[in-house]
Amino acid sequence: MTQATNLLKVVVIGGEGIGPEVTDQSVRVLNWFIDRRHAPLQLHDAPYGAEAYREFGQILPAQTMEAVRNADAILFGATGGPDLDVLPKPVRHQGSLLRIREGLTLFANLRPIIAHAALFASAPLKAEVLEGVDFVIVRELVGAIYFGQPRGIETLPDGQRRGVNTQVYTTSEIRRVVRVAFELARTRKHRLCSVDKANVMESGVLWREEVDKLHQAEFSDVDLSHMYVDNCAMQIVRKPNQSDVIVTDNLFGDILSDCAAMAAGSLGMLPSAAIVPRDAAGRSKALYEPVHGSAPDIAGKNIANPLASIQSVAMMLRMTLGRPEDADLLERAVRHTLEAGHRTADIAGRGDTPISTFAMGDAVLASLDQIAA
Ligand code: NAD
Repeated sequence: MTQATNLLKVVVIGGEGIGPEVTDQSVRVLNWFIDRRHAPLQLHDAPYGAEAYREFGQILPAQTMEAVRNADAILFGATGGPDLDVLPKPVRHQGSLLRIREGLTLFANLRPIIAHAALFASAPLKAEVLEGVDFVIVRELVGAIYFGQPRGIETLPDGQRRGVNTQVYTTSEIRRVVRVAFELARTRKHRLCSVDKANVMESGVLWREEVDKLHQAEFSDVDLSHMYVDNCAMQIVRKPNQSDVIVTDNLFGDILSDCAAMAAGSLGMLPSAAIVPRDAAGRSKALYEPVHGSAPDIAGKNIANPLASIQSVAMMLRMTLGRPEDADLLERAVRHTLEAGHRTADIAGRGDTPISTFAMGDAVLASLDQIAA
C-alpha cells in the first residue's frame, strides 16, 4: 500500500452554480483512478463561495487558501452568479477565484480545443471546417485589465460617473507566459500565433515586441505569426483547423476561448489548466478547471455537461500527477463515450435524447471500465 506521505494532494473546490455538479463527476473519475489504477492521490474538499461566506464570513476562507497553497493540484468547478452577486462588494473583492489565481501566480492558462468527429453533426460550425481542429489557447491569467490599477467607478464634478480599468503589462509578465506558449509549440507543430491589439494599444505594442525578441533569442525554430484579436476571432470560426498554439492576453484569451468553444461543440467541452512556474524540486502545481462559468441558467438541474471538468482531470493526470497513460486512457474514454452517442443537452443533435450530468459521469466510468478491461 502507498505510504500516506507519498500521496499527492488534490484540493477539490466545487464553487458555485453548475460547478459542484460537474466537479462531482470528476471526483467520481478521480476515485476510479485511485481504485482501479492505484493513483496515489488524496482528495480534500475545500469550502468556497456563498456557502463558505455563510459559514466562515468569507468567500475564500483562510483554510481554503492554505489548502490550495499546500496542494499538488487543485480541481475547481466554477465561480460567479446570483448567490455571490448579492454579497457585499468588499466581501466579493476580498476573496474570489481571481485571488486564488493571483495568490498562486497561475500566470499561464492552457485551453485545448479539440473537435471530436462524433460531435460534427451537432456542432454549430459546419463539419468541413471542423476536420482536424486541435489547438491550444494560452491565456495570460494574472495580469492586465483584470488586475491593473487604477480601477473603479467615480463620480465626476459634473455629476457624471466614470468607470476605469487599466490594461497594463510588464516585460517579465509577457515573457513568462509567451515562453510557456513557445515551449508548448515545440511539443506540437512548432507554430505559434501571438494575438494582440497592437494597432491601437501600447500594451499590445510592447507585447508584440517582447514576443519577437524572445522568438529571435530562444525560439527561432518555432514558426511565429502575429494577428490582431478581431481578425483572430473571425479566423477561429472561419477556419479553426489552421491554428496550433495561440498566445494572448487575459481579456482576449477569455473571449477567444468562448468563441473557440463553438469548434468543440459547446463551452461544456473545454477543459483548462492554469500553471505556475516549476518550483526548485521541479514540481509543476496547477489549477484545473473547465473554461465555462457557473451557468446560472441551468444550475441545479443536473443537465450541465461535465466533460469540460472531466477532461480537466485528464490534463491534471498528464501535467501534474505524472500519469500520462492514465490521461490517455481518460481521453480515450471521453471519445468512446461520445462515439457511443451519449449527449448532454448542450451537445445533443436532432434525434438525440439528452442525458443528465450524472448519467454522463456514469457513461464515462462505463467507458473507462470497458477500455481498461
Ligand atoms: P457561463 O460560462 O457560465 O455560461 C455561458 C453559457 O454556456 C450559458 O448559456 C450556459 O448554460 C452554457 N454552459 C456553460 N457551461 C456549460 C456546461 N458545462 N454544460 C452546458 N452548458 C453550459 O458564462 P456566463 O453565463 O456569462 O456567466 C455566468 C457566471 O459565471 C458569471 O457570474 C461569470 O462571472 C461566471 N464565470 C465564471 C468563470 C469561472 O469560474 N472560471 C468563467 C466564466 C464566467
